Amino acid sequence: MTAHDPLVLVVEDEPQMRRFIRACLTSHGYRLLEAERASEAVALATSHNPALLLLDLGLPDADGIDLTRQLREWSRVPIIVISARGREDDKVAALDAGADDYLTKPFGVAELLARMRVALRHAAAAAQPDAAQSFEQGDLKVDLVRRQVWRQGQEVHLTPIEYRLLTLFVQHAGKVLTHRQILKEVWGPGYATQTHYVRVHLAELRKKIEADPARPRLLVTEPGVGYRLRDDR
Ligand code: CA
Repeated sequence: MTAHDPLVLVVEDEPQMRRFIRACLTSHGYRLLEAERASEAVALATSHNPALLLLDLGLPDADGIDLTRQLREWSRVPIIVISARGREDDKVAALDAGADDYLTKPFGVAELLARMRVALRHAAAAAQPDAAQSFEQGDLKVDLVRRQVWRQGQEVHLTPIEYRLLTLFVQHAGKVLTHRQILKEVWGPGYATQTHYVRVHLAELRKKIEADPARPRLLVTEPGVGYRLRDDR
């Protein structure tokens, strides 16, 4: 461990889960801070400026969603929510409150580390806005500067809405976006409940960029939550 290893704040009241995360992170070049309560988490986030937060939603003294909202008033630190299975509403609320991603318990080491890498890479790119000018995943290639999209080397022609949808996903590659977030960014704040817009235009976009639109491998559905553009870089 060195002072250059990313510092991760783990906010979790279950000792077993903390032990699991501690074992994963310390063996993969991360430094660790641990908080059992939301109040400790705020104090540690303020005093230590961590590179990333892993946040349980059910905390003894507060709701993790409220904590996310509170942190977002002053911090852009990536927040990955760790939540129990089958609580889609919680995940959506956490993402809408400003969390970057979520993991469903129980999750594996590889999954945890992959999500953390994505979140840290996005934070670094956000600090350096010129970095993400193109995107490649599978046989899809997107050039944001030339506003061109290719699949298997063939240029793909998108409608303006489809292009805006795709660029939104590229800008958040690897991260799940809720219906509300997609509607707000592509159509505007007045459209946050028009989820059928997303469904219809996403289906059209998938026809153009997916090898098999019925079994999407690029723009994948996160059931009950939203969609994610896969990013295996
Ligand atoms: Ca808990």
